[in-house]
Parts: sequence; structure tokens; C-alpha cells
Amino acid sequence: MCRGRASKLILRMRTAATSAGGRSSLRAAAKRSSASASSSTGCAGGRVRTACKGMRPALCRCRRARSGRGSGVRSGSVDAGEPVCELPARLAERLRAVRSVGAITGAGVSAESGIRTYRGQGGIYDDPEDGERTVEALSGPTLLGDPDRTWRAVAALSGMAVHARPNPAHRALVEMERRAARFVLLTQNVDGLHQMAGSCNVIDIHGDVAVTECRGCGARGRIEREERAHLRAAPLCAACGSVLRPGVVLFGEMLPEDKVARLRAAFYEDPPDLVLVAGTTALFPYIAGPVQEARRRGRLTVEVNPEETVLCGTVDFSLRGPAGVWLPAIAKALP
Ligand SMILES: [Zn+2]
Repeated sequence: MCRGRASKLILRMRTAATSAGGRSSLRAAAKRSSASASSSTGCAGGRVRTACKGMRPALCRCRRARSGRGSGVRSGSVDAGEPVCELPARLAERLRAVRSVGAITGAGVSAESGIRTYRGQGGIYDDPEDGERTVEALSGPTLLGDPDRTWRAVAALSGMAVHARPNPAHRALVEMERRAARFVLLTQNVDGLHQMAGSCNVIDIHGDVAVTECRGCGARGRIEREERAHLRAAPLCAACGSVLRPGVVLFGEMLPEDKVARLRAAFYEDPPDLVLVAGTTALFPYIAGPVQEARRRGRLTVEVNPEETVLCGTVDFSLRGPAGVWLPAIAKALP
């Protein structure tokens, strides 16, 4: 599987897309989810759509969109003081039987920690020329021909994320891993925030930007974000002097075979009881595929995103709003 084909697809769809993987901030996400909830354009195929109407720091009001059980406006909070929405009753009931969880996250989850996304409001593609320059800089061919340019782009993105910390969505996934007998987290994010929060079984399918790999001797190392943000040229290997590469899948490069194999084993051989996808438009086939497979084999499928995505007609439950609001509620509902 190649990341490049999907990235071209994204570029083509950029102007037509109506959904976004995430927002530039939690506040923006809450605001947009509220706007989305009041919109008359619904998800045609979704079985259950529930919208979070917005949130205050430790309290959230929700409305069931199709529950047919009155206004359903209630509020609640989890022990840690983090915001939580009330789940649809049928979802809460099914979650009580879940023993294994496969979570899939995208840029929207990082956006709630203040990390800029590619798409969506405040995203890198807001300026198409700037966005395409960034994608070109972060491509395999550019790394080969002009590694300084690639590393300057990495430094610029790292500089924007230098103070980012795990948010309630990251912590909820740690809690899910603690509760589930079997847990796997497939993420498109390269910022390491899931690991920083404490998630263990993570398939970072696009890699980890803190990791470095020597193009000469193959030695692996790390450059933490504070140092990375100040790079002005490609760093060199301390052992052999060759140029290092960032440990991420650049545009136009193939996904690492070992991680694809782990993905297949985790989501296709025996799909988890619950497949939960959050903060991603799921445009990549290797992100949408596990959800479709889970649905086909009768597993519970849930999507969390501020806006509709291509998956809303596939999943059992579509929850509109920030991952930092819904994921704590889902974690709390697990046995
Ligand atoms: Zn080396």
C-alpha cells in the first residue's frame, strides 16, 4: 500500500470534501460540532446519529438526534473532571458486552491538542499553494534530492506542536486499553501523543516523527520535538555521518510491511468486538477497510467526528463532536 495514491486522492477531493478530520482546537471543534448538529443536512445512511451540542470545560450537553425519547438534554462528568456526553442507550448497552477494542485515530484527535491538521479549518490546505508545497517537501522524492528541505518542513510542523500534550481523547484510549481484554490502536498520527498518554499496543501506521533512521548505516535514534523544531538542515548520523531520515511514511512512500501485517492481524483475522474510528475522514483505504470489515462480520462499529465522513453510512453509530468529549463516555461504558 502506498501513501502517495491516497494523498493525491485527498488533493483531488480537497475542494469537494465536506468533512474534515479535525479542527485546529478543541474550542473550534466544539463550535463546529454545534453548527453541524443544527444543520438540516443529515447523514443519509447512518443508523444512529447523535450530536454533541457543545461543551463547557467540565460539562457537556447532548441531544439525541433520532432517539425519539424526548429532548434527552442531560449532562454529566467523569471522575477525572473531563467532559462527557451521554451515549445513546442502545450503544451503551452494546458497549457493556465489548471485550476487545480496535481503535483508529486520525488528525482530528491531535487537533484537539492544538496540532495543526492538513485538512479542515486552520489546516495546512487552507492555503492550497502552501499545502501542496508542504506535501511536496514531505515527500519521498524530496527527501532523496533535497533532505534539508524535508527537514525544514518537519521542523516547521514540529515547532507548531512543541507544547502539545495528550488530551481527554488520548487518555480515554488508555482507559479503554486498561479495561479491554484485547486492545489495539491504529493511528495515522505521527506526533507520539498516544504513547505519551500511555497507550501501549499502538500501530503508528505512518510512523513516529521523533524517530530517526540513518540512510547510511541504518542506525535508529530519536530527536525530540524541542530540538527538532530548531533544525535548519538535515541532521547527520553520529556513527557514520550520513543523512538521517525522519521515521515517518512520507508522501509517495510505501507503508511499512511489518505494520501492515500487524494491522491485518488485528482487524481482519479476528476483528475486535468494537471498532471505533475517531478524528479521521477515513479517506485512506487502510483506514476505512478495517471498519468495513468489522461491520461485515457483525462487530460493533462507532465513528466519532465533528462532521460527517465517508463512513457515516457504514457504521452502527455516528457520534458528532470532538473525540475528547465522546471517547471518555465510551471508555466509561466499557465493562
Ligand atoms: Zn549512520
